[in-house]
Amino acid sequence: MVAMERTAIFPGSFNPFTIGHKSIVERALPLFDRIVIALGYNESKNSADDRAEREARVRIISGYFQDEDKIEVMSYSGLTVDFARRIGARFILRGVRDVADFENERKLADINRELSGIETVLMLALPCHGFISSSMVRELRHNGYDVSSYLP
Ligand code: ADP
Repeated sequence: MVAMERTAIFPGSFNPFTIGHKSIVERALPLFDRIVIALGYNESKNSADDRAEREARVRIISGYFQDEDKIEVMSYSGLTVDFARRIGARFILRGVRDVADFENERKLADINRELSGIETVLMLALPCHGFISSSMVRELRHNGYDVSSYLP
């Protein structure tokens, strides 16, 4: 790993990873040498089942980008900036759908910069992805709706 290369992490829960997430990664790709999609999890969720579910999710996301060698998928627990530093990332990539996202992301970006000096790069969601969220997909799926059009 070369520390000077422009590495960004794209952190999130990705439960599940949607076409909105995929679009952010693809559109940010020209800005970076490497993007690590970083699936964050809570330390307390570490049963064998949790681990298996997480590994499955990492495998699914990796599958979406198997032809793109600038993209990696990893999981991490703990602070995002600590993980970013561990892998030599100088940037955090995040997506913004609306004003609520923006306010949230601004606070996160400020605290992360304060903690580590790592800068956050915000990419605007495509208008057609503005209403797509992982929680909406989970809710629809739970109620028996076909969610395939929201998944890569
Ligand atoms: P988190 O729990 O950290 O918010 P998510 O998996 O929900 O994780 O989202 C990860 C990132 O992707 C966030 O920056 C979020 O704003 C962004 N994002 C979520 N849905 C979309 C979408 N439909 N279009 C663009 N960006 C999105």
